Amino acid sequence: MQQDCIFCKIAAKEIPVQPLYEDEHLLAFLDINPAAPVHVLVIPKKHIANLLDLDKQDQSLMGHMLTAISQIAKQMGLADDGFRVVINTKENGGQTVHHLHCHILGGRSMTWPPG
Ligand code: 5GP
Ligand code: ZN
Repeated sequence: MQQDCIFCKIAAKEIPVQPLYEDEHLLAFLDINPAAPVHVLVIPKKHIANLLDLDKQDQSLMGHMLTAISQIAKQMGLADDGFRVVINTKENGGQTVHHLHCHILGGRSMTWPPG
């Protein structure tokens, strides 16, 4: 747990959260400022700042995360029309919370390239 990390506090339930999915390693919850009709955040419970901080031992965690995302997307009703998964990384990626997280965005058509 990293001091002053809002997602560590959410993972530790120091900040109340309504989990959409939870297991030993992951927590998924709604984004507080949704960018789409369905906007879910999926975080590892352990603090990893961003994709650049992954090491070999995190391989199974990240595979597990994608598998969970598939399940959550179905659970949220996104399987028929599709959805987008985003991992913003550092300044140019638009990362504002420095605890690794996947955005699941759905419920509307997305544009490409992203802004
Ligand atoms: P980033 O810009 O780092 O990729 O995404 C961070 C996301 O976390 C943003 O979409 C923002 O709305 C969301 N967020 C920030 N603080 C909180 C919070 O306290 N609760 C929830 N549910 N979402 C948050
Ligand atoms: Zn953290």
